[in-house]
Amino acid sequence: MISVVVPIYNEEANIPLFHEAVADALMDIGEPWEVVYVNDGSKDSSLDLLRGLQEDDTHVIVVDLTRNWGHMGAISAGLETARGDAVVLMDGDFQDPPEVIPELVETWRGGAQVVVAVRRSRQERRKVLAKLFPLFYRLLSALSDFPIPINAGIFGLMDRQTVDSINAMRENNRYLPGLRAWVGYSNAIVYYDRQDRLAGDGKLSFTSRIKYAMDAITSFSYKPLRLCFVLSGVACCMAALMAFASMLSSSPWNAVGCGVASAVFLVGGALLLCLGVLGEYLGRVYDEVRQRPLSIINKVHYASQAASALDRPAEEEEEQPAKILRIA
Ligand code: UDP
Ligand code: MG
Repeated sequence: MISVVVPIYNEEANIPLFHEAVADALMDIGEPWEVVYVNDGSKDSSLDLLRGLQEDDTHVIVVDLTRNWGHMGAISAGLETARGDAVVLMDGDFQDPPEVIPELVETWRGGAQVVVAVRRSRQERRKVLAKLFPLFYRLLSALSDFPIPINAGIFGLMDRQTVDSINAMRENNRYLPGLRAWVGYSNAIVYYDRQDRLAGDGKLSFTSRIKYAMDAITSFSYKPLRLCFVLSGVACCMAALMAFASMLSSSPWNAVGCGVASAVFLVGGALLLCLGVLGEYLGRVYDEVRQRPLSIINKVHYASQAASALDRPAEEEEEQPAKILRIA
């Protein structure tokens, strides 16, 4: 069976067309399939629309989270619910085109356990983001201690073994493209042209993007920590040079004033930067120690016919009780 996992947050304008396109793509493949939509605390009519889809299409599973947990939290809930032998992960706004799904499945059938969809080009209506994405990928590949495919987001396919390995990982601050590379297995790449979203605005705030970028870098690199040593070395050298220059200066007041001020700024700046980097790691260590769940499912709604086809016990057919994911 092929599962498609789609995180949904306020996507009412995209859901009907998106489901139609995904269903068309999956029907062409000719294998059993399901689409797991994770409603990540939407405030619009997304949940109603998704529940409505289940009336006509028994392949639809709706995972309703207790609140908005963010992109990664929603994806984790979807990965834990999906039952397919292969699981396709994609966004629900058409930026990851549904017509690429058959190619992902074909590549998996050809023997790859992980198929990464890499962006050959990208259309982004927000010009600032369009400039920042390549910068982020360049920074990530320069800093990462582990090779992570660049220009690839969550879009792609993972086989059952890979999904189980990722589900078994308990870290909270996760960067899925990195984890997908980190678990190993045989990888293949499919190139695609990333579209602009069909309707509505991007749902990820600028701060959550920065947090995601920091998660990516700190999860796979200790280089920022090592940078503290380099910076403190540079600061010490500069301080020594200034002290030397102020000794050579002909005007004593100038020499003392400039020397002290520059040294204070330099050393203070370097210390603050180091503290900031340490704080980033410390915050993440704190998160991991607490072992809070990545997200909490309120209910899982199964379409009744789909459930009976899979021989689920009758009492489980409609709804499953709340479930806390990944609690120790
Ligand atoms: N999304 C989510 N929870 C959030 C934010 C976004 O589930 O808190 C979903 C959203 O509905 C979409 C996908 O995650 O299907 C990607 O979000 P978005 O398009 O805003 O991100 P971008 O493509 O701009 O990076
Ligand atoms: Mg998007």
